[in-house]
Amino acid sequence: MKYGFIWPPKIDEMGDIVKQYIDSGKPLSIPDDSGVYRELETTFANLHNRKYGLLVSSGTMALYSAFFGLNLLPGQEVICTAFSYHATAAPLLHLGIKIVFCDVEEDIGNIDVSKIEELITNKTKAIVTNDQWGHPCDKEGILNICKKYNLRYVEDCSHAHFSEYKGKYVGSFGDVACWSLQGNKLLTGGEGGILLTDNQEIFERAVLLGHNLKRPAKSVRNEYYKGLERTGYGLKLRIHPLAAVMVLHQLKYYCFDWIKGRKETLNYFEKRLQEETFFKGMVKKDYVTSMGAWYGFKPTIDFEGLNIDKSNLVNWMNERGFEIKIPKSKSIPTYELFTSDKYKINNYDKNTLINSYPNAEKYYSKILTFPTYTFHEYELIEKYIEAIKEYFKTTGNMSR
Ligand SMILES: *Cc1c(COP(=O)(O)O)cnc(C)c1O
Repeated sequence: MKYGFIWPPKIDEMGDIVKQYIDSGKPLSIPDDSGVYRELETTFANLHNRKYGLLVSSGTMALYSAFFGLNLLPGQEVICTAFSYHATAAPLLHLGIKIVFCDVEEDIGNIDVSKIEELITNKTKAIVTNDQWGHPCDKEGILNICKKYNLRYVEDCSHAHFSEYKGKYVGSFGDVACWSLQGNKLLTGGEGGILLTDNQEIFERAVLLGHNLKRPAKSVRNEYYKGLERTGYGLKLRIHPLAAVMVLHQLKYYCFDWIKGRKETLNYFEKRLQEETFFKGMVKKDYVTSMGAWYGFKPTIDFEGLNIDKSNLVNWMNERGFEIKIPKSKSIPTYELFTSDKYKINNYDKNTLINSYPNAEKYYSKILTFPTYTFHEYELIEKYIEAIKEYFKTTGNMSR
């Protein structure tokens, strides 16, 4: 017996939607901002009350385009949360921008705003954050620092589609905001990414980085870039139109139901874990008015004082068919990409990236990955609860 979880869920008519698009002779390559690109970019931008939207091939490339949009110079610095998927920071290596990692809050793994100011130097130009597992980081705290020191704010919202900070969607706070539309994400075309901004310069430079032929002529007004009208800056970062078709369909008809279902289901899962086991739920700070995408469900457990270790618990559960995992994403500065000159990119100096981030380690040590159930799988959840209770019993830890 396997108590699994599959994402994205099957949408019965999706095959027909894609087929209709192809059969109607609509283009499979769109050289400008027309058709499904225009519709998806404007729909997503309008939902977030933003001026400009730009689809790209991935979340990673949305971040690359956003940093490129900021027009940073090599040697300048960007402060980056130490705990996130590596792509929050990796594009900066390619741009020669110095990454200054900032430790996180021990309770949820978001950038610790109280630790940002001590990292600011006269070279600091921007801050990039993640909304860990769908839990918004402290947007106002970050914006206050940005204002005080004249910094730009890049939001990586790839965990948190439509999560709300004080009633406003994440992605409506930063100078530029990025989302992944990859297969594990709440809203997905299999692969894809999007960025939103109100800033014309950021938008135009992002367009020019990865969009050639007719798109610069359509989207770029600044005369300075006239010479790049056909080539852009020469990269090609377009999303596949069929991916955009799938995303648009989910956005119109499914996304908000999924968010509602996931919230109800995971709130129940959390409540039951807290009632019956040693697991705690995920922290939710007062400013979080909606968890939105809730990309990962990571209950915490304090292993100190309990007679168990993480991998033992995970193996025991896996043997019985339950999908609990040790999270794969570690804190970013622990990856060799960011520390080892064996994997040098141009002449990037990685020496200064190696440091210690104790809260990121502590946070990582107490989370486990549970399935992000979305469709009221309450019976299944009760089976998880029973199994976890049994595990605690057999290991001599009296259940609650
Ligand atoms: C998934 C993800 C990305 C990268 O998205 P891709 O579409 O896979 O390139 C970036 N940042 C975070 C936080 C993510 O979860």
